[in-house]
Amino acid sequence: MEERSQTRPEASEAAFLDALSDNSTPAPLPTTSTGRGPATQIEDIFGIQDVDSYLATLENLTARIIKAVNEGKSVTATNKRLITKTAEDIRGATRILPTLIRASTKTSAAGGNPITPELMTPTARDDFKKEIAACVREEVRKITKTLTKSQPSSPGARPSYSEIAGGMAKHARPAWTNADSNAPIPTPPRPITRPAIIVASTVPIKSRQEVLESLRRGADFKRTKYAPLKIQPVSNNKLRVEFQNVQERDDALERLQGSKEVSAEPAHTLRPMVIFKGIPGDIPEDHLVDIVKGQNEELQGLIREADDLKLRFKRKNRNSALYNAVFVAHPRVWRQIMDMGKVRIDHQRTHAEDFSPFRQCFKCLQFGHTRANCSADSSPCAYCADPTHQVEGCPIREKRGAPKCVNCSTHNNKFKATQNTQHRATSVNCPRLRAMKDRISNRIDYGSE
Ligand SMILES: [Zn+2]
Ligand SMILES: [Zn+2]
Ligand SMILES: [Zn+2]
Repeated sequence: MEERSQTRPEASEAAFLDALSDNSTPAPLPTTSTGRGPATQIEDIFGIQDVDSYLATLENLTARIIKAVNEGKSVTATNKRLITKTAEDIRGATRILPTLIRASTKTSAAGGNPITPELMTPTARDDFKKEIAACVREEVRKITKTLTKSQPSSPGARPSYSEIAGGMAKHARPAWTNADSNAPIPTPPRPITRPAIIVASTVPIKSRQEVLESLRRGADFKRTKYAPLKIQPVSNNKLRVEFQNVQERDDALERLQGSKEVSAEPAHTLRPMVIFKGIPGDIPEDHLVDIVKGQNEELQGLIREADDLKLRFKRKNRNSALYNAVFVAHPRVWRQIMDMGKVRIDHQRTHAEDFSPFRQCFKCLQFGHTRANCSADSSPCAYCADPTHQVEGCPIREKRGAPKCVNCSTHNNKFKATQNTQHRATSVNCPRLRAMKDRISNRIDYGSE
C-alpha cells in the first residue's frame, strides 16, 4: 500500500492544466510535490478524517472549479488563480488517499468509525482507488469541456459575474484551503453552515445558468456592499446562495421579493444530531439530558432551552447491558460535543459522534426511508441489481464478478448519463449515494462558531 494512487488522474490533470494554459496567458502552475511536502499525517490536510469526508472534499473542490469557470463569462485572472489553486488542492487530496485508507482500516479495527468491509481487502482497496481515479477523470473531462465552451466571449457585452466570483474567492474560501500554500493549514474541526437562501425560477427555464442570471438581475449585487459567499446548484434547477451573516441574507431576500423571475426563501435548516454510544442500561432515557448537563461543565452554559439538547430516539447497543441515544442539538451544543468527542454520563466517558439523518432502504436500496417503511414491490440485489435474488446469495458476488449499482443504472437510463455503475448500491463510492448525503448535509445547520 505504499504506492501512490495511480498515475492516470495525473495524466488527466495534465490535460486539464493544458486546457488552462491554452487560455491566452500561461497560468502560474504549481509544481507537483512542493509546497506541502509529503502527506503523511491526514489530520494536517483539509481536515479529512475518513473516506466520507475525503470524498466530500474531492467533490467540493471539483464543484468549485466548475463554479469558478461558469460564473465568469470569460475566465478572468481571479478565476484562473482560483482554478489553479483548486487543482492543486485536488492533487494534494488525492495524494493522501493511501494514508487515509490505512488509517480508516485501523480505526475500524479499533471499533471506531464504521467503514465498509470491502475497503479492507487489498482487491477492494485497488477498486476503490480506481473508482476515485475514474471520478477525477470524469470531473476533469467536464471542466475541460466547460473551459473550452466558455472561452470566446465579446468583452464588455454583458457585465460578468467576476465581481461576485472575485468576492467569493476572497471570502468564501474555507479555512482549510489556505491561499498561501506555505502557511500552516488549519484543520477545520466541523462543517460550517452560514445563512442561506434557496432561489428558484418562477418562469420556465432551460438551465441553472438562467436562474443565476435572474438572481443577478433580481438582487443586483453590484449595488450592495456585499456579495454572496457561495452559490451552489441544488436539485430541480434551484440555487443555494450563502451569505456571511443574517443581515446580508435578509437584505438579499428582500431584494428578491421584487423579482418576477425568481422566488427566494430561507434555506431550510435542520438541526444536527448526535449519538451517544454505550449508555448503561439502568439510566432512564428521560434523565439523560439532566445527567449530561450536570456532569459536563463544558455544556452547562450552552444548553439553555429545552430544545437545545433533546432526545430523539434510543437505539440498541451491541452490548445488551448498554444502549445508544440519538439527540437533536442546537448547533452550538453540537459543535461543543463534537469537540469533546466523549461526554460523561454516570461518571463514565461515553463516546459521542455526529448522527446523519441519511437513510438507505435495504429492501429497495432507495434513499430516505428504511425497510420498515418501504412500499416498493421489488427488492434488487445490493451487489448486482438483479431483482431475483438477494446479496447474501448473489452468484456474481460469489464468482467475484463486477458489481452493478441499481441506482446508478436507473439514473443513467433516465438521464442518458454515463455514470460508473460498477459498485454496490450501498457503496460509499456510489455517486448517487454521495449526492444524497450532500443534499442532506446541505440542509443541516451545523452552526459557524
Ligand atoms: Zn425501500
Ligand atoms: Zn446479485
Ligand atoms: Zn451507484
